[in-house]
Amino acid sequence: MHQQVKWVSTLLLAILSSVSPLAGASTFRVVASFPVLEDLVKRVAGDDISVSTVVPPGADVHNWELTPPNVLAIEEADILFYNGFGLEPWLRHVKAMSDDSLLLKSVAENADFTPQPILTGRYKGTPDPHMWLDPEGAAAYVEVIADTLAEHYPDQAEGFHARAQQTYQALQLLDQAIKERLDGVPNINRTLVTSEAGLGYFARAYDLEYAAIWGVNHETQGSAQAMAQMSTRLANERPPALFYESTVACIHMDAQAREHGIKLAGPLYVDTLSPADGPAYNYPAMLRHNAELIHEALGGARPD
Ligand SMILES: [Zn+2]
Repeated sequence: MHQQVKWVSTLLLAILSSVSPLAGASTFRVVASFPVLEDLVKRVAGDDISVSTVVPPGADVHNWELTPPNVLAIEEADILFYNGFGLEPWLRHVKAMSDDSLLLKSVAENADFTPQPILTGRYKGTPDPHMWLDPEGAAAYVEVIADTLAEHYPDQAEGFHARAQQTYQALQLLDQAIKERLDGVPNINRTLVTSEAGLGYFARAYDLEYAAIWGVNHETQGSAQAMAQMSTRLANERPPALFYESTVACIHMDAQAREHGIKLAGPLYVDTLSPADGPAYNYPAMLRHNAELIHEALGGARPD
């Protein structure tokens, strides 16, 4: 860790002592910590603000390490939106290197949305950071984003609030569509089991029982103890399927599936979006993809 701080400082010095070709450009720059948040910020920001993400699509936001292009983008940004509640352990390096000209804003810690505790593992009982998996949580993020942008760029406040309103409506329709789809899963099959306990808010929103092998991806994944606990649970309850996520190795859930003779399904998109040509290319697509996969694997009824 000491090494990394030293490396970041050296890099910063190199950047600061060179003349940036973008210095003085009129474009406002905002950075989001991971692709899901980037998508939500873009919906509110409009065309005059350049929005980028620190963690690229497909990578694990929990275990990211800053790259030289990340450092440059953060250095040029006015605002960095991050999730908070410990989702981005690497944020301590950003805090160490940034000065007062960068506004760091946690969307989850400022959201008007009640957190629930992490289910299991080393961080059990602390607030679960994955609020965006419930569209109501995403709407609460959008409110923080719109208020923050309006405060920082007051000339464009009206546009931010108008786009936020449109986004709330779109999120409500999305929520309704997912509810209707998952209502088709029979009562006896309504159990969701994933590797990381990242879908707690989703499970609460759509009335699913929920279990996971570990709590968050930045702890030990699939420890012997966590695997044994899940195995005991699956020996007693037999859900129709077990799920793995796009940013974790599926070996742990695959081992559980083989041991208990239960179908393995996935990937669910939880901590990231897919690349543009994948099934979870934006926030609504991510939730719809997850809902379809869960509906199918849990034996949901098909409309006639
Ligand atoms: Zn996660």
